[in-house]
Amino acid sequence: MDKTIYGLDLDQQGRCRHYHLANDIAALKCAQCQQYYACYQCHDALADHLFVACDPNDLPVLCGVCQQLMNYNQYVTGVCPSCQSAFNPKCSLHRDIYFKESACN
Ligand SMILES: [Zn+2]
Ligand SMILES: [Zn+2]
Ligand SMILES: [Zn+2]
Repeated sequence: MDKTIYGLDLDQQGRCRHYHLANDIAALKCAQCQQYYACYQCHDALADHLFVACDPNDLPVLCGVCQQLMNYNQYVTGVCPSCQSAFNPKCSLHRDIYFKESACN
């Protein structure tokens, strides 16, 4: 699994031009290109297609601090299961972009 995080103006922990608060550390995988991006805006700026939501059970989230992969249920606990870093709770506003709705319950 390629754990490289892609995006614009990335820092060492996966923050990007669009989301760069202390807790903006989660990277999300696009189902089409199977690569992790700091956010969907980065993806859509760099890829030749729009972000395609992942199956929530398909380890769609990558912690930018410790590179731990996790599924949706682990991600929504709000902290990384490996390094306990907190995730930005506002990311859930974009849930429909990042995760296929069907299995998100
Ligand atoms: Zn893609
Ligand atoms: Zn971004
Ligand atoms: Zn972590």
